[in-house]
Amino acid sequence: MSAQIIDGKEFAAKLRANIAIHVERLKKEHDITAGLAVIIIGHDPASQVYVRNKAKQTLEVGMNSFKYELADDVSEAELLKLIDELNNRDEVHGILVQMPVPKHIDATKIINALNPAKDVDMFHPLNAGKLMTGQIGPVSCTPLGCLMMLRDVHGSLEGKNAVVIGRSNLVGKPMAQLLLRDNCTVTMAHSRTKDLPNVVRQADIVVAAVGRAKMVKGDWIKKGASVIDVGINRIDAPERGQGKTRLVGDVDFESAKENAAFITPVPGGVGPMTIACLLANTVTTACLINGLKPPKDLTA
Ligand code: NDP
Repeated sequence: MSAQIIDGKEFAAKLRANIAIHVERLKKEHDITAGLAVIIIGHDPASQVYVRNKAKQTLEVGMNSFKYELADDVSEAELLKLIDELNNRDEVHGILVQMPVPKHIDATKIINALNPAKDVDMFHPLNAGKLMTGQIGPVSCTPLGCLMMLRDVHGSLEGKNAVVIGRSNLVGKPMAQLLLRDNCTVTMAHSRTKDLPNVVRQADIVVAAVGRAKMVKGDWIKKGASVIDVGINRIDAPERGQGKTRLVGDVDFESAKENAAFITPVPGGVGPMTIACLLANTVTTACLINGLKPPKDLTA
């Protein structure tokens, strides 16, 4: 039987509608308009589309959007100065620096300069530590979105075997922490993992965050497992015409959906949820900064 497709677009639309309600409530009850600042460096067309999308959705849920487009050759000092300004600006509750930054800028320095209270994608080590020790704080947007979708289809995740493939600070590690927090038994796999297919075959939940097109094959997936495909890979698509490309995930969707019970597609799965969770995190930080309890349905 073919898997049920988890529609990330629809899920994200519902989440944004809920975020809009919380944004409105913050305005009405506390006179706070949540505000998100996004900094993008350089003119990579894909990143620009992504940032434009973020700004549009930020405004649509009723938040303030602050967008800073800096030149490729902006100095580290100028970027740090802007971050310092935003760190101290009251109407900014979330700051996102679009990664990666150019090579002449030290990404660690930038991350450490962020006010942790406004660090909406959990770059800062203080927030990573909060996640690890079970304290409330902003959680990386992509894993948060994955967790929300998994909770939606399963209710409780308790006792499930989860395998997270990939151990980046932004996706794999926080994903594993969140699943652990939800009482899964978690295995983290990476490029040195031995016999990955058999490791994945034990999983009730598979989260693939690798960056390798269709690496996870259908016969790696246990019957009835849930598969969350974080990967975004552009491959040639000659069937669409000469020079055309298309996006695929890290999972071989067609074969995996024959064994999985639930699966996210690429595109239209994790991607839309990532942006929605950025907005959710901005509501969370706006609440925390103002001494209010963040809405439970927007947090991990
Ligand atoms: P990174 O490149 O930072 O990490 C990739 C991870 O995959 C590493 O831990 C690496 O292991 C592991 N890996 C590489 N090759 C293999 C292999 N053959 N077998 C097992 N593990 C392997 O990537 P990110 O975590 O930043 O992103 C992963 C993917 O998710 C990318 O395609 C990215 O575009 C996508 N992405 C999508 C988002 C969304 O919103 N949908 C958001 C963020 C990312 P090791 O540590 O040993 O090198």
